[in-house]
Amino acid sequence: MTSGGAALLYAAVAATGNVIGAVAVVRHAAGSLRVIDHFVAFGAGFMLAVCLTEIVPEALVRSGASGPLLVLVGYLAVHLTQHTVTPHFHFGEETHAVNARAGTSALVGLLLHTCFDGVAIASAFLVRPTLGVMVFVAILLHKLPEGVTIASLMLAGGRSPAAAVRAAALLGLATLLGVLLTDSLGVLVRHGLALSGGVTLYVAASNLVPEFQGKRGWSLPAAFFTGAALFYATRALVERFA
Ligand SMILES: [Zn+2]
Ligand SMILES: [Zn+2]
Repeated sequence: MTSGGAALLYAAVAATGNVIGAVAVVRHAAGSLRVIDHFVAFGAGFMLAVCLTEIVPEALVRSGASGPLLVLVGYLAVHLTQHTVTPHFHFGEETHAVNARAGTSALVGLLLHTCFDGVAIASAFLVRPTLGVMVFVAILLHKLPEGVTIASLMLAGGRSPAAAVRAAALLGLATLLGVLLTDSLGVLVRHGLALSGGVTLYVAASNLVPEFQGKRGWSLPAAFFTGAALFYATRALVERFA
């Protein structure tokens, strides 16, 4: 399989995570949602480890002197689209009533981020397949909470359960689009990794971590540290069998 074909396949699996998260919300699966809470913390640790020790160093090689600036641009772009031009958005389940417009604008804001989830997977596959698999795992881990976020926000804004699941499916499609764009746009072939490094850093450190920062107890911090540690176990496993 070509690296583009493999990236598309892995991205499709990750995109399914968006829909599964949304379905858990519309079915009021409280038990699943508690598990997904731990996915947020575990995924944040794993994602941060992949981002800082693999994606960013590789991106600096691939993009050369413009690498650091592109990482910064990726980071700032998420803040602009998800949190500046939108009236209300935060990661995690929406538990209070929001304006109907909040769901739609959060969806639009999230689309750039989820498109870059796909760019990250495709760019990592272009570097080497084992990096592609590790970035896929990192992306997959936050796809469930991402589906929960958009579906609960749509419901809180008064939209129907079907509309909530459709919104999550759209996020999944944007991830597939990110893979296709990376394979067809020269600029993303070269600089997609640096841009998606900044996006990934934002999602891990500025979206996921704040979701459990204020919560008490040991189980969420334990999931966070375990996520970072398990990245090294995954890397050893992936490199061994590749
Ligand atoms: Zn809220
Ligand atoms: Zn994402």
